[in-house]
Amino acid sequence: MASSEDKKVEIFFLPWIVARGHMIPMIDTARLFASYGVKVTILTTHDNLQLFQDGVDRDRSLGRDIDFLTFDLPEGCENLLSIFTINLNEELFIEKLREPIEQILRDRRPDCLVSDMFYPWTAESGARLGIPRIVFHVTGLFPLCCEEATRRHAPQHKVDSAKATFALPGLPNPNHNIEFTRLKTQSWLTTEPKGAKVFEAIVDAELKSHGVIINSYYDLEAPYAEYFKNDMGRKLWLVGPVYLFNKNYEEKAQRGEKNSIGGVTILNWLDSKEPKSVLYVSFGSQVRMAPEQFFVLAEALEASGHSFIWVARYMPESGVHKEEGSGRRVLPEGFEERMTKSGKGLIVRSWAPQLLILEHRAVGGFMTHCGWNSTVEGICACLPMITWPLAAEQFFIESLVVDVLKTGIRVGNEEWMSLHWEPKVTVTREKVETAVKRLMGGGGEVEEMRRRARELSEKAKKAVEPGGSSDADVVGLINELKSRRK
Ligand code: UDP
Repeated sequence: MASSEDKKVEIFFLPWIVARGHMIPMIDTARLFASYGVKVTILTTHDNLQLFQDGVDRDRSLGRDIDFLTFDLPEGCENLLSIFTINLNEELFIEKLREPIEQILRDRRPDCLVSDMFYPWTAESGARLGIPRIVFHVTGLFPLCCEEATRRHAPQHKVDSAKATFALPGLPNPNHNIEFTRLKTQSWLTTEPKGAKVFEAIVDAELKSHGVIINSYYDLEAPYAEYFKNDMGRKLWLVGPVYLFNKNYEEKAQRGEKNSIGGVTILNWLDSKEPKSVLYVSFGSQVRMAPEQFFVLAEALEASGHSFIWVARYMPESGVHKEEGSGRRVLPEGFEERMTKSGKGLIVRSWAPQLLILEHRAVGGFMTHCGWNSTVEGICACLPMITWPLAAEQFFIESLVVDVLKTGIRVGNEEWMSLHWEPKVTVTREKVETAVKRLMGGGGEVEEMRRRARELSEKAKKAVEPGGSSDADVVGLINELKSRRK
């Protein structure tokens, strides 16, 4: 009979079902652990299943022990499946899932539950049921350390105005000139007491959890990994970049959504372009921009004269913003026709196969909102970036890219926005045009950024190879969970 030590380690993964940017890296991580011989179960809703089913089926055909366990959304929760409609303060944590999830944990008793940061209640569930809960963060160490510094030292409250700059005390690496303003800082760290309570609940649950998994790698953020472990006292496993787990064309094309015909069109279009001549513009899986900001961006892209692919999933079909009913124009007159005719630009309104685009030889730069996944993917594709942070912790990530890693330039957005506020124009056409010309115009400065990104990219690939730092962390966690059974 197999002893309990011989039995496979079993891990449950519970992604935040509201946002694709949270689900994608957790599914990659779950599949990664299954490839190390762990028995993996992903807990999710029926609706989300189809987004990831194919990859998991492929793993199973390779003999890996990975499966989904689906649950129904409790009644009245249907509106929680969109980040724009969810009430961030009250429903964010989807407390209503607590009962069905606890029931599953009670029945199946896995060795560990890896759950998204936005389910702080799982720390308590795990503790009660004797199942270690590990937090899955969908951001990097640098932004987490920045958040901790603002929490501990409150420099944002010690300046006179929203535009006055402040440094973040206590962070390692004082050589970097890292400065923020209140305007650039998340509202829950500045003006919003309800949001602050939410943030506190997440931190509190993290402290009560067994540890933290982060989709990053040691060489990308070494000083901040040390700060996170030693100063902040967290147990940490750095297992990324997990997107590298997707190796073949199919996996890359289908990541995050079964790809539409759009993917092929995009790649064909790129095939016709010169190496490093195209700017890839994307603001992630969820973005709200004012119609006027879309307009400004379109004008600037056209004026720059450089080729671009612009993923604008939330932009209305027609040039006029109909939903608003106000006739506000989203794109300059004739813009799309001109771009199509000249072959200068491609506007993508569906899910884009981002990994395939980023690695295409024709792509030479990335304009990004600084979502953590996109940032890591861009760096590992050796691309210099134009940073245009909008919401969440994206301004901190911008600082990592521009001030610390020095692989990008700022577009110059100075104003943080909640996804729930009415969006407005915060970046002028001149700023966008200047940034695009500077990045895509090439020259020594940009080549230097590319060189630095290439170095980081090589280190990322080494990290996930056998014997690399991320490989060692995955093995370390599995061994620890095994040894807990004794
Ligand atoms: N993504 C994609 N196609 C799209 C939009 C996004 O493949 O059209 C992927 C992208 O590669 C990344 C994730 O979705 O892995 C977005 O995560 P990120 O952290 O960059 O931003 P978020 O969407 O969470 O703001």
